[in-house]
Amino acid sequence: MSSLEDLTQQMLEFRDERQWAQFHNPKDVALSLTLEAAELLELMQWKSGPELLEHLKVNRELLADELADVLGWVLVLAHDQGIDLGMAVKEKLIKNAAKYPIEKARGVAKKYTEL
Ligand SMILES: [Mg+2]
Repeated sequence: MSSLEDLTQQMLEFRDERQWAQFHNPKDVALSLTLEAAELLELMQWKSGPELLEHLKVNRELLADELADVLGWVLVLAHDQGIDLGMAVKEKLIKNAAKYPIEKARGVAKKYTEL
């Protein structure tokens, strides 16, 4: 099972078995999330184009591990702060759709303020 709810429960079980909730204030959880995102970037540092794509193909497990680390912290932070992550993503997509109307944004890599 891998719904957001199931994954969150598994993260919380992992944490509770180790009595780590006491260390999980929102700032340190966000810090951990950012560090894991940096590890994701580190995997790609100094590579680009075809070399990067080949590197990621060869290191697929490392890529999956770092993505899982990032998502794990996102799930924990959302849980601890009482945020329904599924709903938050849906609501943010609606906000982004308003910021990036298809007729203005299709095929354009610009921030909404520049559209
Ligand atoms: Mg990691």
